[in-house]
Amino acid sequence: MSMSIKKPEFPDDKDRIREAMQLERYICPHREINYPCVICKECREMDLKQYSLKNGFIEKTKNSSLISLILELRDPFDDMLLRRLSFALAEATGIIQKEPEPGFSITFYISEALMEKVQEKEKLIEFIADFQHTFLSETIAARSALNKWERSTTQRLLWDMSIV
Ligand SMILES: [Zn+2]
Repeated sequence: MSMSIKKPEFPDDKDRIREAMQLERYICPHREINYPCVICKECREMDLKQYSLKNGFIEKTKNSSLISLILELRDPFDDMLLRRLSFALAEATGIIQKEPEPGFSITFYISEALMEKVQEKEKLIEFIADFQHTFLSETIAARSALNKWERSTTQRLLWDMSIV
């Protein structure tokens, strides 16, 4: 008798993110230009699929996907850092939506055109699956810079008020 490893009943997040990146060059007949179907959601041929992630949601069409995540944000400073980082990444690559989908912290926008620019697909899958952790570790430097500013400014303002 041979042992067989049972496939998990629900695929894990990485499998679903990988699935969301299986895109094809598909010209939307509704728009007749290379417009992302996941944004227009008007054509019947777009083949919309929706999957839940542990902390997120995927919408996939033939030529584009949205991967939205709910992140644990500790305070308004985290909110601000995520907003600024999202905006900067959106400007630089378009891979992040400037405004996340309603109810989510961040939305990755994956298109067939973007996937042509991705050198290592597994790296991108890993990045999105691990984004909560990456975000928290990237905020350490920002927090420490803010604390340093707070300490030195307090000292200077006390001096300005001539309080010893
Ligand atoms: Zn379409």
